[in-house]
Amino acid sequence: MTHINQNFLKLPGGYLFPEISRRVKAFSAQNPPMPLIKLGIGDVTLPLAPAVVEAMAKATEEMGRRETFRGYCEETGCAYDFLRFAIQGSYRDCGVEIADDEIFVSDGAKSDCGNIGDIFSVDNVVAVCDPVYPVYVDTNAMAGRAGDFDGEKWTDLVYLPCTAENGFFPALPQGKVPDLIYICSPNNPTGTAATKEQLKTWVDYANAHGSIILYDSAYEAFITEPGIPHSIYEVEGAGTCAIEFRSFSKTAGFTGTRCAYTVVPKALEREGVSLNALWSRRQGTKFNGVSYVVQRAAEAVFTPEGRAQTRENIAYYLNNARVIKSGLEQAGLTVYGGVNAPYIWARTPEGVGSWDFFDTLLHKACVVTTPGAGFGPAGEGYIRLTAFGGAEATEEAVERIVKLL
Ligand SMILES: *Cc1c(COP(=O)(O)O)cnc(C)c1O
Repeated sequence: MTHINQNFLKLPGGYLFPEISRRVKAFSAQNPPMPLIKLGIGDVTLPLAPAVVEAMAKATEEMGRRETFRGYCEETGCAYDFLRFAIQGSYRDCGVEIADDEIFVSDGAKSDCGNIGDIFSVDNVVAVCDPVYPVYVDTNAMAGRAGDFDGEKWTDLVYLPCTAENGFFPALPQGKVPDLIYICSPNNPTGTAATKEQLKTWVDYANAHGSIILYDSAYEAFITEPGIPHSIYEVEGAGTCAIEFRSFSKTAGFTGTRCAYTVVPKALEREGVSLNALWSRRQGTKFNGVSYVVQRAAEAVFTPEGRAQTRENIAYYLNNARVIKSGLEQAGLTVYGGVNAPYIWARTPEGVGSWDFFDTLLHKACVVTTPGAGFGPAGEGYIRLTAFGGAEATEEAVERIVKLL
């Protein structure tokens, strides 16, 4: 008889977004007094930049001609030279030198964050921030690294609380030393971005203990404040302890187009083995790359026109973030994030739980948010709003909330 991976049965079953969707559906069925405005889910809404669409169309046309047709991408890291050079150039802009064979192009940072576990033993101790992007937790649970879910937490994970008191950046753990440490900056869900000094404490810790930092910088393009690092490799010593994940999803509206990249430095070794070589072996075996058309689209993000156009889109979202932040502050709420990220992390009113506040905003303002508790126990007492909506709808949503509170 076939045995299934029992670890899957331990998963609490994609609780957060299905539960939100259930509540929204139930409320919609009662004929809400106003149209619903959704500031809940983290997906972009603006179309692809014209430079990107043009590059895709041209590449599509090339695929339709025998002389320019392409089959499997045989390049290192599944990255065509043109895209690799563009990525290297963007790293150079923040003073970071990445070698040719340290870049691996993929269909998403979500898959890479999940798949990276393949190259690490199931015995490693995993640390995650609390609140956290659920992918890090669930993929480790599937692999058998998380233990059992006790209704609130996984028994074998090290939770690093990120609270207003620590500026939503985790303190070094006191007890068990984690081997794999997930850090996401700018952060989903809290919308805060780590400083170089903050990252340095973890880089030094990881180097001292032989741990690996899995650094998710999917929102790097939203950084507006000077001095905030765009890459963990801006921090001295990160080359021997960190893997970095980046994506075109939020930076250039590729959530439906699919392209990302992961940097695995060649200086990264554990037990005398190159992690770059292991990841290369893993990808070469289980992955056949991102389409030529999409890699051309991604390349176009780095051209002067592409940069200007995608920057405009990001400015549009960041303006929404400002509107949400200042509106909620005006309504008397304590608000974090929204400056270097498209997420606003708002404290619920005194004594109101995050699901209750979610329900109040849904029923009284017809605005859909995300309850912070869904991202982990330390998210209780917060809600997350996203800046990915339309400008008018966002303003309307904020006005309704201000009026309500
Ligand atoms: C959206 C998001 C990503 C991007 O995932 P893709 O698979 O590249 O679309 C990665 N990390 C976080 C934290 C995200 O919110």
